[in-house]
Amino acid sequence: MSNFQISKLIFLSSDIVKLSNYQIFKLIFFSSDIVKLSNYQFFKLIFLSSDIFKFPNFQITFAPMKIICVGRNYAEHAKELNNALPTAPVLFMKPDSALLRKGEPFFHPNFSENIHYETEIVFKIKKLGRHIEAKFAHKYFAEFTVGIDFTARDLQDIQKSKGLPWEISKSFDNSAIVGDFLPLTNVDVHNISFHLLKNGVLVQKGNTANMIFPIEKVIEYSSQFFTLKIGDLFFTGTPEGVGKIKIGDRLEGFAEGIKVFDVMVK
Ligand code: ZN
Repeated sequence: MSNFQISKLIFLSSDIVKLSNYQIFKLIFFSSDIVKLSNYQFFKLIFLSSDIFKFPNFQITFAPMKIICVGRNYAEHAKELNNALPTAPVLFMKPDSALLRKGEPFFHPNFSENIHYETEIVFKIKKLGRHIEAKFAHKYFAEFTVGIDFTARDLQDIQKSKGLPWEISKSFDNSAIVGDFLPLTNVDVHNISFHLLKNGVLVQKGNTANMIFPIEKVIEYSSQFFTLKIGDLFFTGTPEGVGKIKIGDRLEGFAEGIKVFDVMVK
């Protein structure tokens, strides 16, 4: 990339990119962060967990991915918010602009007086698919982490009381912390432990064994409606123990005892 200047790379499909004003290359993903530009060279993509990748002389813009979230997927959490147990997964989405960039603090928005953390196991989709049967769903993900589904509970309560969609309370900018991904090798998807420390104190812990709808069922159900694309994320619901954050808090997420994120609230 040293002999010419590239302003922008745009993802046109899962593997074709267009170099603005230049030509089309094929990008081959070898892992989550290494790409090969055909006939050219290897370089490392630094994933900032958002849509902009900055390099010294150019910038890459990826097409939007989506975050599919499951509400009320743990019985004890449904109870603490006085919600009935669902008979099918309750789904909502966050746009790519909801991703908090890695290494950035979470700036408390001023439109809410009551932002809650919801600590959740997150799976990353690695394969395009739709109408996926639960028995084949395991082929569509290979990595997991812990994330936070920030929720403006005060706004959500207003929306819920009016029977309106939740997006303004759930899908606002930076409302999704996504930790570092871990491979699922030697991990039982149905027995993943996770927890959240707030200011060093354990505030939430859970285990995927307690999900009402396991990830395979969530994929089966949601892929009837939404095509799953490489890079899409599933937030799989929070266990009980959700609570309010305030400026100055430190949030540390753990999956299977491994710290996957460390975020300050500012
Ligand atoms: Zn949630």
